[in-house]
Amino acid sequence: MTYQVPHELTDHATICGVNMSFLRESFEERAKKPHHKVTHTPEHGLSVRMKSGYMYLKEQKDAIVLTAASDRPDKLFKLKGTIGKILKELQPDTFQELQWANASDVGALPPNLQLTRVLSVEPLGTAFVRVRLQVPNLSFIDETSIHFGIALPPETGNAPEWPYVNENGNAVWPKGDKAFHRPVYTSRTLYPEAGEMDFDVFLHESGRISKWIKQLQPGDRMAMIGRGSNGGGLLDNDKVLMFGDETAFPAIAHILDKLPAGAEGTVTLEAENGADCGYPIVAPEGISINWITRGKDKHLSEFAKEQCSAAPDHFLWFAAERQDAMRMREFFRAQGKDPQDAYVRAYWNRNG
Ligand SMILES: Cc1cc2nc3c(=O)[nH]c(=O)nc-3n(C[C@H](O)[C@H](O)[C@H](O)COP(=O)(O)OP(=O)(O)OC[C@H]3O[C@@H](n4cnc5c(N)ncnc54)[C@H](O)[C@@H]3O)c2cc1C
Repeated sequence: MTYQVPHELTDHATICGVNMSFLRESFEERAKKPHHKVTHTPEHGLSVRMKSGYMYLKEQKDAIVLTAASDRPDKLFKLKGTIGKILKELQPDTFQELQWANASDVGALPPNLQLTRVLSVEPLGTAFVRVRLQVPNLSFIDETSIHFGIALPPETGNAPEWPYVNENGNAVWPKGDKAFHRPVYTSRTLYPEAGEMDFDVFLHESGRISKWIKQLQPGDRMAMIGRGSNGGGLLDNDKVLMFGDETAFPAIAHILDKLPAGAEGTVTLEAENGADCGYPIVAPEGISINWITRGKDKHLSEFAKEQCSAAPDHFLWFAAERQDAMRMREFFRAQGKDPQDAYVRAYWNRNG
């Protein structure tokens, strides 16, 4: 038997042999992580807020009814995957028996994976390539999340082994030498009416995507995983300080397009040859754009620290290499601020 929860999209599973107090304690422990929040309501029992939606746990006779609730099908699928992963960690036997009422067809492609068609591949400045895609289901990406994953099959010379949905409703990705490369990218521009999207790839020497994109042609297929959960295209604050290296230029450009005309602030962009990289960025009148050259100018995070100290009421948006992002988080904490009040992300890892 199921019960009503205040979300449009739900799925249910009944699990046995797990102690409710054990689950409650485990989730309360996890709730110390950002995004997770545990509450108890008489109506829904234990409710856990996660990134992609809510999970409810309610005792019924000898079992616990588990409900996953979200506002979009792709988020619901992701949420069910997260719940499965947590259960697997907590109680592997229970995970084996986890059976969602509306599980996707076993063996089918995961519903958040789709095959897009490449419409064009054009050089952009000296260090980027812009790709336009025809995307069968563009609702996977919107202004609340502008990121997605590319699923690049391994270069084995054989047909790739595709991921599939297992009996628990989770996506199973091939491992080892059959593993896909799955880096995150950003939609630069969405064309919802045409079902098309542009994204920009920064070319760097050792990148698998850089190598792949050099032989990419119109008509080719690209597997895309959506949606990402690394941030949206709209900022709540119209006073902003934005900092990024090449990997963050598409996100910064996307966000600048959506800022109100009266927005104020500064954007600092770090590239190998500064502005000569030729990446096109346009900002509202009240936002100045500063280009800096890596290795010649001060470190990106030094600019960020100075500007944040001078304008503490501005929203900080910072995305670059992992060490840079860590420096910024430390700085933010040292100022007595909560890093959750800023967007500070590692977009790549030098040691990755
Ligand atoms: C939310 C988010 C959004 C992103 N959006 C974009 C985007 O729109 N466009 C874009 O180009 N990138 C973007 N990135 C960064 C991109 O995902 C990484 O750079 C990723 O590693 C690229 O995969 P790859 O196949 O090129 O390199 P990999 O095969 O993953 O890595 C190979 C080697 O390259 C190094 N490497 C990775 N990135 C860089 C770099 N930028 N400079 C120098 N060396 C590098 C790694 O350290 C590793 O040693 C984004 C990342 C995140 C988290």
